Amino acid sequence: LPVDRKYPFKSGVNIMFGCNNFCSYCIVPYVRGRERSRKPEEIVAEIKRLVADGVVEIMLLGQNVNSYGKNLEEPMTFAQLLREVNKIEGLKRIRFMTSHPKDLSEELIDAMRDCEKVCLHLHLPLQSGSSRILKLMNRRYTKEQYLDLVDRIRAKVPDVSLTTDIIVGFPGETEEDFLETRKFLEKVHFYEMHIFKYSRRKGTVADKMKEQVADTVKSERSAVLLALEKAQSLEYRKMYIGKRLEVLIEELTEIDGRSYYTGYTKNYIRVAIAAGEFKDNPVNDIYECMADKLICDGVTILARYN
Ligand code: SF4
Repeated sequence: LPVDRKYPFKSGVNIMFGCNNFCSYCIVPYVRGRERSRKPEEIVAEIKRLVADGVVEIMLLGQNVNSYGKNLEEPMTFAQLLREVNKIEGLKRIRFMTSHPKDLSEELIDAMRDCEKVCLHLHLPLQSGSSRILKLMNRRYTKEQYLDLVDRIRAKVPDVSLTTDIIVGFPGETEEDFLETRKFLEKVHFYEMHIFKYSRRKGTVADKMKEQVADTVKSERSAVLLALEKAQSLEYRKMYIGKRLEVLIEELTEIDGRSYYTGYTKNYIRVAIAAGEFKDNPVNDIYECMADKLICDGVTILARYN
């Protein structure tokens, strides 16, 4: 069926449905069922149709894209799928979500390094920096394994921006566990973190755990990590000031009463360029520009095109 898209030039493409992981706080495997992957030919054909319709950026979607293809008649890895999608003419950018750290292979890191259309952004949900809590969450990796993965990714794809999800106040999370998480986040230094206060889901293992954490404690822990997130993401964006950036322009926006064209770099930094700098409409095209300074409370880089 034709997809109703918010933007004419970018679109999500489902590559799989369901999940086999049973993280102890999550209801998805119960409501969406087990993992099913779509055939690569179907995915490629859908993307080609989207490109013919003006789409230049796609987001490959699945609960755990790293285990794509395992249940196909002719098994295929996600890295192989990325290489196939990368060959599609007219497509300029490929993003994907979500990656489970335990399934992220060396083959995928190599594909990210080799495929020029694959964006330098990886969302890699950590959830906790305490291996004890990770075990209770049934995430099936330790903080040491996660750190090793981050080091290997950064070694092969140096410009990659890493973002993550964190749950605070998971049942049984002590002050020590929380401090361990904070220390770990300071060490990894993510570009952006999505901080969630644990919330109970009926029917999950975590909902039945005895040591539920008080809401006030969750709020305090969340506030601490949100402050860290703000400082780290600001630092990350500052590193790009004075550098040349490649931006896919998405839309015309008003900022403080002035008109700007805004868009994103390959590593997912929002950039604004004064609308007056362009003679023609730049939306849907990639432009190289010079990063001047941070605006909008530090979440956007103001850049010059000319
Ligand atoms: Fe699956 Fe993600 Fe839910 Fe874990 S959190 S069970 S990986 S959907």
